[in-house]
Amino acid sequence: MSIITDNIETLRRNIAAACQTAGRSPDEITIVAISKRHPEQAILEAMQTGLMHFGENRVAETQDKVSSIAAQVETLPNWHMVGHIQSRKAKHIPGLFDTVHSVDSVKLAKKLAQSSANANVILNIFLEINISGEASKSGFDAYQWTQHKTKRDTLWQQIREIIALPALNVQGFMTMAPHGDNPEATRPIFRDLAMLRDTVQDDLSVTLPDLSMGMSNDYMVAIEEGATLIRPGTAIFGTRQY
Ligand SMILES: *Cc1c(COP(=O)(O)O)cnc(C)c1O
Repeated sequence: MSIITDNIETLRRNIAAACQTAGRSPDEITIVAISKRHPEQAILEAMQTGLMHFGENRVAETQDKVSSIAAQVETLPNWHMVGHIQSRKAKHIPGLFDTVHSVDSVKLAKKLAQSSANANVILNIFLEINISGEASKSGFDAYQWTQHKTKRDTLWQQIREIIALPALNVQGFMTMAPHGDNPEATRPIFRDLAMLRDTVQDDLSVTLPDLSMGMSNDYMVAIEEGATLIRPGTAIFGTRQY
């Protein structure tokens, strides 16, 4: 058995174990295999095990992969954008990606709505939330949101504005936890994001069904805290080549 196939088997076993702990069903979890900087061959191999969602973070790299893979498979996979998008690149996103996990400003959301409407497609989006307060992370500022009313008011207003935009389906929130060796250290971040989602749903009377959280080192903790999409890369494909 190849390494990728083997890795995916391990991943599925771990997902089942985390779901067991949390009293959830593995059917609730979508694996978004982060394939950035890995060759098409690796993606095709992962598809043979049944994975149908892939995450990339560059437009040009994705365009190359999408057209080449489309020529080799019967059922097209779903492509997820997980990297920062410069506003001037927003027009390339709808039609190429099904879902964007990294919407980090109202300005970008407006650009994506405009280009999705122009392309006559509905784009699934996640709002990227900076919950850890790390300056290096992008996303809407929600650091210590329970304690800061003005911060909350600003965020609620931004979310309202984005939900009202046409051609976008706001699925929920995404976050990136600080990098570290101890997955337990990320638990409070994931728990906080789930609580933020629940609060926004109540306050704004909206439905935000999904949480995109958990990467190779912490997806089990993320599942225990309510993730519905996880984003492992290295755990499936190994170390990236740059
Ligand atoms: C690269 C990346 C991942 C995957 O990271 P791994 O540590 O390889 O699992 C997940 N999410 C985002 C947003 C990324 O940029």
